[in-house]
Amino acid sequence: MTFNLGQSSVQIRYQRCNRCIMDTNADPKIVFDESGLCHHCVRYDNLINTRVINGLAGKQQLENLIKKIKQAGRRRDYDCIIGIFRRC
Ligand SMILES: [Zn+2]
Repeated sequence: MTFNLGQSSVQIRYQRCNRCIMDTNADPKIVFDESGLCHHCVRYDNLINTRVINGLAGKQQLENLIKKIKQAGRRRDYDCIIGIFRRC
């Protein structure tokens, strides 16, 4: 892949992530680690490891959140709002 930057151009070698479908065509600024994983996958793994609570603790936290939402919506027409986007 070649990018024209004014009078000069930059040649980028094509590379695809070893796990997902991202590549240098979809994201010219993509970065790969030494194992061939893209920075999107590395970020995903970091978020999963730091923000997702698994097992009984995760189930308890979800149940607490559901309880909190239901209490906040008591005597209201709706319990929650679901955002939906549709491109026409
Ligand atoms: Zn990836």
